[in-house]
Amino acid sequence: MRLTVVGCAGSFPGPTSAASCYLVQADDADGRTWNVALDLGSGALGPLQRLCDPVDLDAVGLSHLHPDHVADVSGLYVYLKYRPGGPGRGAPLPVHGPFGTASRLAEAYGLEPGESMADHLAVHVWQPGSPVRVGPMTLTPFAVEHPVPAYGVRVEGPSDADPEQRVVLAYSGDTDACDGLDRLAAGVDVLLAEAAFVEGRDDAIRGIHLTGRRAGEAAASGGAGSLVVTHVPAWNDPGLAAAEAAEVYDGPIRTAEPGLVVVL
Ligand SMILES: [Zn+2]
Ligand SMILES: [Zn+2]
Repeated sequence: MRLTVVGCAGSFPGPTSAASCYLVQADDADGRTWNVALDLGSGALGPLQRLCDPVDLDAVGLSHLHPDHVADVSGLYVYLKYRPGGPGRGAPLPVHGPFGTASRLAEAYGLEPGESMADHLAVHVWQPGSPVRVGPMTLTPFAVEHPVPAYGVRVEGPSDADPEQRVVLAYSGDTDACDGLDRLAAGVDVLLAEAAFVEGRDDAIRGIHLTGRRAGEAAASGGAGSLVVTHVPAWNDPGLAAAEAAEVYDGPIRTAEPGLVVVL
């Protein structure tokens, strides 16, 4: 299984990165590569095309409905519906998200009430703890703490080095520290955790985001094999989140940047 960071800017696109989007790929026993996009935030459809033809996506998993995580689903719909010449997918693309995803996406695209995007997008509502199968991978949502309904997603799939072995990637979505995050992070190989807030600066604002330190605490308490900090807004010092995490977590820590590949 492989994680490629498509966009990792927190809360809005930054000068060097689109907003949240992560491409997770795994090969099945027949050698077919399966492609999952976790979130498709503002600006992410552009760089995604350097990695994968959007027609070849097998599923999209949306952590929550803030624009920095879903805005480019509108563009994806245009691509799937109107791309000249090329063969389509054959079936609507499964999109998994919180309750209300279908109506929100339709509204964002400008459809009238009663119209839907079901001709090209098959929207499914996450059921907490219930795995969704995508080829050799399973995606399991965990409810986390954010001002709107939000999920972290645990992706389990075959190891790239030894396909007989199963590996686990956990993506926090947007969340503050909570039980759901702790359950999401338990025993994972890689924890991809947001760290939008800064210790000292944002201490009074709880229930929205992690700091680097709180991301590190989740990695440490879960026994994560490594930590990737992400969703750092352009106004933050980019190295600070990893430095905060390193104060409380002994494992390897990387800071997400577009194009970063993590092989599991
Ligand atoms: Zn966000
Ligand atoms: Zn958010």
